[in-house]
Amino acid sequence: MIEIKNLRKNYGNLQAVIDLNLRIEQGEIFGLLGPNGAGKTTTLRMLTMLTRPSGGEAFIAGHEVQREIDRVRRTIGVVPQHMNLDQELTARENLELHGRLYKIPAAERRSRIEKLLSFVALSDRADELVSRYSGGMKRRLMIARALLHKPRVLFLDEPTVGLDPQTRRRMWELVRRMNQDGVTVLLTTHYIEEAEALCHRVGIMDRGRLIALGTPAELKERVGRFAVEVFDGEQVTAKFYGTREEALASAARVGDGVTVRETSLEDVFVQLTGRKVRD
Ligand code: ATP
Repeated sequence: MIEIKNLRKNYGNLQAVIDLNLRIEQGEIFGLLGPNGAGKTTTLRMLTMLTRPSGGEAFIAGHEVQREIDRVRRTIGVVPQHMNLDQELTARENLELHGRLYKIPAAERRSRIEKLLSFVALSDRADELVSRYSGGMKRRLMIARALLHKPRVLFLDEPTVGLDPQTRRRMWELVRRMNQDGVTVLLTTHYIEEAEALCHRVGIMDRGRLIALGTPAELKERVGRFAVEVFDGEQVTAKFYGTREEALASAARVGDGVTVRETSLEDVFVQLTGRKVRD
C-alpha cells in the first residue's frame, strides 16, 4: 500500500531523513518509533505531500506521491501533530467544510458526517464550538475529518501526544476499529507503549535512519525476550536472554538486587543506539 524507495530530506546541511526504504502492506498498522528529531514527522510530511523530498520516491496505492497529487490526495487521510481545526466553527461545521472541499455530494456528506461523529463519540457535542473542546475531543474530531472522504491510508502524526492515559487508550481503540474497517495506518510515535500495544510492525528511526524493522515480538527476540537488571547501588545494567529459564539462572548467580522482566521496545532501542527513546 505504501512503498518508499531511497527517500531523503535535507535541510541545508542537516540530513533529516537518510535513504529510507520501506514497504507497508495493505491492512497494517505500522508505527515509526523514535526520539524527537529522528525524522518521523519529516517522513510523514513527504508521504503526505506537505514537503518535497530531496531525493528518492514514494508510492501510495501505486500512485507516485510527487506526480499523481490528486489521486494521492484522495487516497490518504492525514491527522497532523498540531491542531488545525477551525476553532470558531462547530465540529459539524468543520466536517461539513472538509466534505465540501472534497466535493462529496450533500446527502452522502451528511450521512457520513453523522456516522463519523458517532464513530468518534462526538454526536452529542457536534454543534458546540471546537474552541470549547478538550484536547482528546479535538484529536477525535481530526480523525473523523481525516476519514470523511474514505481514505484507504491514514497518516497519524503522534496521535496521542499530550493526552491522558485513559484518552490515549480510547484513541488506540479508535485506530484499531478503523483498521478493522480496512484502513491501512501509518503512525509516528515516541511512546514505546503505543508502538507495542497498537502496531503490527514497527520501524525504529534514529537520526534520520531506519535502524530496525519488524513486529514488536521479532524486534524483542533479536535482543533476547527476557531482561535481567542488576542494580549495583549506583546504576542499573541489563543483560538479555532468549528464555525465562536462562534469565532466572543468571539472576540466581547474581543474587540480590536483581530483577527479571520481559524485554521492551525501549530495551531494543537502547541496545541499538546506547540511548533512550525519551530522555
Ligand atoms: P518530533 O517528534 O520532535 O517531530 P521527528 O522524529 O518527527 O521528531 P522531525 O520533525 O522529522 O523529527 O525532524 C528531523 C530533523 O529535521 C530535526 O533535526 C529537525 O530539527 C529538522 N527539521 C524538521 N523540519 C525542519 C525544517 N522545516 N527546517 C529545518 N530543519 C527541520
